[in-house]
Amino acid sequence: MKVLKFGGTSLGSPENIKKVKAIVAKKSLNDQLIIVASAFSGVTNQLHECSRLAEKGDESYKAQLDALINRHLEAVQDLLGAKAQSGIMAKVRLVLNEIEDILKGVFLIQELSNKTLDKVIGSGEVLSALIINEFFLQEGMKSSQINPQEFILTDSEFGKANVNMALTEEKIKSYFHNQKAQVLVCPGFVSKDLYGNSTTLGRGGSDYTAALLAAALEAPELEIWTDVSGMMTANPKYVKQAYAIPQIDYEEAMELTHFGAKVLYPPSVHPVYKKGIPIYIKNTFEPEAEGTKIHEFPESDVQSIKGISCIENIALFNLSGSSMVGIPYFSHRLFEALALAKVSVILITQASSEHSICVAIDLEDVEKAKSAIENAFSLEFKEEMLNPLYVETDLAIVALVSSQMKNHIGLSGKMFSVLGQNGINIKAIAQGSSEKNISAVIEKKQIKKALNTLHESFFLSDPKRVNLFIVGTGNVGKTLIDQLNQQSEYLKEHNQIDLRISGIANSLKMLFDLNGIPFENAVETLMEKGQKMDLEDFLEEMKELNLRNSIFIDNTAHEIVANTYAGVLESSISVVTPNKIACTGKFKDYKKLKNLAFRYRSHFRFETNVGAGLPVINTLDDLIKSGDEVLGIQAVLSGSLNFIFNNYTGKGDSFAEVVKQAQKEGFTEPDPRIDLSGVDVKRKILILLRESGFEMELNDIDTIPFIPEKCMQAKNVEKFFESIAQEEAHFKQLVEEANAEGKKLKYVATFDNGKANTGLEKIVPDSPLYNLEGKDNIVLFNTKRYPEQPLVIKGAGAGAAVTASGIFGDIIRIANAL
Ligand code: ADP
Ligand code: ASP
Ligand code: MG
Repeated sequence: MKVLKFGGTSLGSPENIKKVKAIVAKKSLNDQLIIVASAFSGVTNQLHECSRLAEKGDESYKAQLDALINRHLEAVQDLLGAKAQSGIMAKVRLVLNEIEDILKGVFLIQELSNKTLDKVIGSGEVLSALIINEFFLQEGMKSSQINPQEFILTDSEFGKANVNMALTEEKIKSYFHNQKAQVLVCPGFVSKDLYGNSTTLGRGGSDYTAALLAAALEAPELEIWTDVSGMMTANPKYVKQAYAIPQIDYEEAMELTHFGAKVLYPPSVHPVYKKGIPIYIKNTFEPEAEGTKIHEFPESDVQSIKGISCIENIALFNLSGSSMVGIPYFSHRLFEALALAKVSVILITQASSEHSICVAIDLEDVEKAKSAIENAFSLEFKEEMLNPLYVETDLAIVALVSSQMKNHIGLSGKMFSVLGQNGINIKAIAQGSSEKNISAVIEKKQIKKALNTLHESFFLSDPKRVNLFIVGTGNVGKTLIDQLNQQSEYLKEHNQIDLRISGIANSLKMLFDLNGIPFENAVETLMEKGQKMDLEDFLEEMKELNLRNSIFIDNTAHEIVANTYAGVLESSISVVTPNKIACTGKFKDYKKLKNLAFRYRSHFRFETNVGAGLPVINTLDDLIKSGDEVLGIQAVLSGSLNFIFNNYTGKGDSFAEVVKQAQKEGFTEPDPRIDLSGVDVKRKILILLRESGFEMELNDIDTIPFIPEKCMQAKNVEKFFESIAQEEAHFKQLVEEANAEGKKLKYVATFDNGKANTGLEKIVPDSPLYNLEGKDNIVLFNTKRYPEQPLVIKGAGAGAAVTASGIFGDIIRIANAL
């Protein structure tokens, strides 16, 4: 005899019931079957709700009840032909009338005992079994309905009764001894106490009914048919990448279900475990899928983590006091008080000093637990031997489960580290001495992020999802998106990094999409579907989404965006930017951002602030971290100025014409004075010096201007061009002087002997700076380890493609570190 249980979702509609029938018909060819039926999906909740409304004297219970009655009557009509309908309708109506009568009574006296509630909510199973059995008969199966109240016997703990195991086993054995029908349809969930009252086995209890039957009858297996293809590595509601675990041992399954894997009611494992009967979790909607086999199997299974589960509504009680050590039987009294109040404790932690003890319980039990503890220790609270009880709500538990945990080192370290990196604060932790489970109490709002982060870290087949929030879709922004588009598949396949644009904005529009905005037409999609851009709203939404592995990419040059980095880093979201403003403001502000990144385990990367895509800052970072010291820097850091002085010979085009050409080709800022004044170079050398460990401000860097002051004062860009055209003689003199000495003009940033300056210099032919082409940059670092021959970094230092690739590099560096 085999036992198959079909859950509410499998019985959600006549369509689904037909699927169930197909499975049962096929299986009944070879075996006698017991089909344990749940109520139609949602019915138990609705009966509960109707009862509560009636208790409150709220007449709307009637409308809800009518809907529920109609649903059952419609199912009868949909599934059964006229002949079958007439017989069954009377039986269905009898049950429905009884519910109606009871609820009317409840409504009139406005009182609802747990005993009455059990009678009402258990009816859902009775109705579904009636209808299913009749349908099976109509479809030609030899089916018969049985009544579990004849063999599942419990105490009188209404709401969640305790089964009298010995008696139940005996009753089941004798009851089924001479049941001849090939298919026996049994309502799940309902039972009876020793006085003949209806009881129920607790929410989700149909699984338990099936397990009790399978165990008592020593069935070869127990099949739990539901709406997912097995016990999954995590709750699929939260973790899209979760997958069915092919096989798992009983104890692991118990841990997972106890810690929230709703797919199986926790008490169901024990009876079949004792008898060594395997449980199969199967999907009614994908019967061919393998599902999960829960059984005893050898230690050869080495997967370190089997699954990750969560319990959503948790409260944490913290009882502390310096004199707790002196209170006799402290823990005993605490747990006894909770047990007497029927509060089940989910997790316990106690520090070795015994000055505090922390217990996690179901949120629903908070008031009960509070008064139980306050009563039990009333004297100690009064005498201030104990601190006032500290209760935290809106919490959740996430738990890693595996029976192989004891054989793997560093799992808890990894768990806490990845949670920390995503800004998930851990309120309490517990690891059972059996080492089958590590649990952490976290804030409820962090569940999704925590589960996904852990899933990606512990199930290596998952590519790590990295959520990008891009602001700025100009030249650099667009090029970056193109590069992401070209490379994203490769990164997923070879580096397990799944980059997605989860949010994007420019000055006009902003758009979010958790499934990722497609790279190939991200800007068009933004303009088409986006809403009006508001920077504050964008940031709020990004933080509110609270996605794991989030990176904010600022492709603008705006101060208003740079000013938001602190808040972003504080939300454990990393920042990548070519925008120099944040790093070149006051030293204390720059330092604050660095500290925030450290404190919130986010990353702040700005490689492209100096030399575009050239690896200048990362190289410097490696030198400093490995203990080197910067003694001197000589650098050409302005691609624009290099272009200008490479093209201005004093013989051909005038200085003004060359600058104009550079501007036209996009090698200068729209206002070329920003480049020509040297401010941009000053900012770059300042960043290098700060990254080298010097506490410097922009004003500490001397600049010798080469553009006459009155040109710089010109009212606008046009006037500026006019005024430099008038100063051609000045520029010509500069270049001719250099030529006469066999030197070239370069705009150089220098750091020497603790002093930094920028200015136009005449460079001798044997200097590495002399032959710098086009818009190239060069940086020479003299350090303790490179005292004579400097470390040289040279190459294209401007342009959208190299800048975007520098940003891309920063993104990958962060993704690898997450
Ligand atoms: P049934 O109505 O068949 O009894 P339940 O709703 O009680 O079904 O349980 C199945 C549901 O459990 C799934 O739809 C899924 O949302 C949820 N669930 C939570 N955690 C897990 C997990 N680890 N594996 C599978 N399902 C899970
Ligand atoms: N119908 C009951 C419930 O919803 C029992 C079950 O489905 O297992 O809790
Ligand atoms: Mg269930």
